[in-house]
Amino acid sequence: MSVTCEKNDVEYVLLTEDQIKKRVEEMGRKLSEMYEDKCPIVAAVLKGGSVFFTDLVRSMDCLMFFDFISVSSYGNDVKSSGQIIMRKDFDNDIAGKDLIIVEDIVDSGLTLSYLKDFLYERKAKSVITVALLNKYNCHPKDLNPTMYGFDIEDNFVVGYGLDYAGYYRNLPYVGVLRPEVYS
Ligand code: 5GP
Repeated sequence: MSVTCEKNDVEYVLLTEDQIKKRVEEMGRKLSEMYEDKCPIVAAVLKGGSVFFTDLVRSMDCLMFFDFISVSSYGNDVKSSGQIIMRKDFDNDIAGKDLIIVEDIVDSGLTLSYLKDFLYERKAKSVITVALLNKYNCHPKDLNPTMYGFDIEDNFVVGYGLDYAGYYRNLPYVGVLRPEVYS
């Protein structure tokens, strides 16, 4: 199905550019302390995690390697299909490595929980998950990411890497999409 979006489809701004910047810098500082002597692989989950990733790694001052992976469970829809497909694997060999997986948002928690199991099967030494947003009402607490920027309600949000049907990733803020757009 092809979807057409308008620039004014965002109902309201949930998190401003400034709020995001401050929180991402705090998270970066914390991660730098945690990984000071570890040289982790920091992996962005494409495409949604890419904007958060680039700001986060520039707030960190430890040695690190980059990686980019892609898993998908949504297609053009606003609810998870429940089926996760690995579209792009790690370039690095991850056995024995400390991994930081950077994701845009945790909803059902399925994506990150799938990834964690998969990475431990591949003999990663340690895996933590870092997300900008946590939809705290949509999963049990034990599926929370290890670290996250903001708890949010169950609204469909776009911007700062998050899309609807491929649109809106470039917005510098996080906004709630008008429900008419997808209903
Ligand atoms: P989960 O597996 O935790 O249910 O879903 C995680 C993925 O669903 C995210 O990486 C993101 O791609 C997508 N997702 C979940 N909630 C939202 C949302 O509110 N907005 C957007 N744009 N994507 C979402």
